Amino acid sequence: MLQQVNGHSSGSETPGKASLGEDLQEFLGQEAPLHQLDDLTKVNPVTLKTVLRCLQARYMADIFYTNAGCTLVALNPFKPIPQLYSPELMQEYHAAPQPQKLKPHIFTVGEQTYRNVKSLTEPVNQSIVVSGESGAGKTWTSRSLMKFYAMMAASSASCENHKIAERIEQRILNSNPIMEAFGNACTLRNNNSSRFGKFIQLQLNRAQQMTGAAVQTYLLEKTRVACQASNERNFHIFYQICKGATKDERLQWHLPEGAAFSWLPNPERTLEEDCFEVTREAMVHLGIDTPTQNNIFKVLAGLLHLGNIWFADSEDEAQPCQLMDNAKYSVRTTALLLQLPEDILLETLQIRTIRAGRQQQVFRKPCSRAECDTRRDCLAKLIYARLFDWVVSVINSSICADSDSWTAFIGLLDVYGFESFPDNSLEQLCINYANEKLQQHFVAHYLRAQQEEYTIEGLEWSFVNYQDNQTCLDLIEGSPISICSLINEECRLNRPSSAAQLQTRIESALAGRPCLGHNKFSQEPSFVVVHFAGPVRYHTAGLVEKNKDPVPPELTGLLQESQDPLLMMLFPANPKEKTQEELTGQSRAPALTVVSKFKASLDQLLQVLHSTTPHYIRCIKPNSQSQPQTFLQEEVLSQLEACGLVETIHISAAGFPIRVSHQNFVERYKLLRRLHPHSFSGCHSLYLAKGPSEWPLYTQEAALQPLLQDILHTLPALIRIAATP
Ligand code: ATP
Ligand code: MG
Repeated sequence: MLQQVNGHSSGSETPGKASLGEDLQEFLGQEAPLHQLDDLTKVNPVTLKTVLRCLQARYMADIFYTNAGCTLVALNPFKPIPQLYSPELMQEYHAAPQPQKLKPHIFTVGEQTYRNVKSLTEPVNQSIVVSGESGAGKTWTSRSLMKFYAMMAASSASCENHKIAERIEQRILNSNPIMEAFGNACTLRNNNSSRFGKFIQLQLNRAQQMTGAAVQTYLLEKTRVACQASNERNFHIFYQICKGATKDERLQWHLPEGAAFSWLPNPERTLEEDCFEVTREAMVHLGIDTPTQNNIFKVLAGLLHLGNIWFADSEDEAQPCQLMDNAKYSVRTTALLLQLPEDILLETLQIRTIRAGRQQQVFRKPCSRAECDTRRDCLAKLIYARLFDWVVSVINSSICADSDSWTAFIGLLDVYGFESFPDNSLEQLCINYANEKLQQHFVAHYLRAQQEEYTIEGLEWSFVNYQDNQTCLDLIEGSPISICSLINEECRLNRPSSAAQLQTRIESALAGRPCLGHNKFSQEPSFVVVHFAGPVRYHTAGLVEKNKDPVPPELTGLLQESQDPLLMMLFPANPKEKTQEELTGQSRAPALTVVSKFKASLDQLLQVLHSTTPHYIRCIKPNSQSQPQTFLQEEVLSQLEACGLVETIHISAAGFPIRVSHQNFVERYKLLRRLHPHSFSGCHSLYLAKGPSEWPLYTQEAALQPLLQDILHTLPALIRIAATP
């Protein structure tokens, strides 16, 4: 048997070379029509164009899942396909002796993780990383997987445990509508867009029963509560309340039918997600009783009224800004619903208190109209973010199992995908930073997994270079100097610095870094980061302020005066717990910045992921209009690049771009065996290590003789033959 290792292919065929691929397909005898190729690594050769064509052929044939090595590609069908997620199909994958032999499906991944936990004597935690751009289907996928696990776990529960098991699973499933009501919103890209990242650990005991779950959330887009882009909406829960409240509730919460709220844009749009009843029912299942629910909704109604408080410019700087017409009613109603003293609420929005001097004398300075608006928005964000965290903590306490009742977990990660808009800021920097981290984890794992596969096949091999994104991560988070450290330093120094100054600092301190770009034509101060998924330009204006995310201490102080039971719990007025900062109104110790908090949570997440066997699902959105049966090549192409799938295939190609089953090769070129009978005995697969352009192309058997000679001479450099495992 021949076994030789040297030469590696670049494997990076350009789409323009695809015709060679077609020739090669003919030469090697493509094993199946494109839409029947269940694994993209079997596309011959692996190029951007062939991968795209294969996915398109499958999509048009209503086949939505395709393997890509150790990744599953999921195309969004944008139409309901009940049979694709039926309990019967779940059972089929669960019962199959070898689920990987069935059609690619998220259930294969689900079942694989489930078996991995079970099959090992010492359970190994599993994780599934679901990625893709907004609207690609990440949340749908993780929801469907949760249903799959719930069913599997219920079916494995013993009779007496069945009732308990069902209750736990039902509760876990019920966490979805609640989190989506509070954390999802209609955006330009997705009617049900998650505005936070989520990692849910499904906890299993030795008997494979699901005993509980734990949810960790990341960076809620809290600005949405006070500011929605045109044609977007606030979080679903506000619309649910306004549309679903009873007459009595409307009276209690001061939400008369047809009332207009600044923070409730596009209320006329009716979405499937606007179902108040579903949220309420799920809350009951998770132990949030009706009085507590009513308290939550009352506070949220208060936020809607808070959004209607508008100020007029003050003619005299020494005087506070006056309220706009009608805003008086809004102040009164907000105060009533949030149970705050009306005069203090208004004063807190209008006047800033500054403490200065050794005696910490208090100075009161009227705010400008813009400052009043900022304080109002800040108050809303503060309440909403705490409320969201509290809801998540209630969910956790309701679904989390005792630590001694589970032995392993399956983690599901549903994070925001790579983003690049014309105007990118701190939010995109954090999101793209998270994606860089996950990509790095993926590359490391993928290489490892592939290496293992080759080892099983009995190949010696070594890798050529692959694109590592460490340099980009160094630029963003590295020490001692990186983009994050520079932005954090600006916050710490607390000095006035303009957007242009920050740009200059970043450019000079990080000059020469390969992933830092510069846009000469940019009108506004900005810097460019060349991410693995493409360059993104970040504006520096407002970056430092967003990173500080300052909360005036008067606002927290105000909320601590509330008589509302929920707000009293969210903002406990315990003087012992007051920090020096709150007492003096001045920051002594630097507060944790958004970036440093995000980095810490990301590091923790990566640590957890590293301790698991990871599985990857890449969701792809076939078109941005959410239309079924529509596959827009340009759009898919950019996602293949952005989600790093092309990169994955390049990595795969760096090993062996072409893999032909032994049977197929020998059947077609029987002559080879006659010439060299021992070469192929006991072979499993053939790996062709050179790209198609370096192969002489022969399509006629009669013309094979020179090819065989050629192959036999160059075989050691061209082909690696794997032994049957
Ligand atoms: P975001 O990042 O904005 O949260 P996402 O990737 O989580 O986006 P989803 O909300 O899961 O996207 O999916 C968007 C929409 O696409 C869903 O509301 C649903 O209508 C449709 N969809 C996604 N996956 C499927 C599927 N497998 N079958 C049918 N429809 C689907
Ligand atoms: Mg989502």
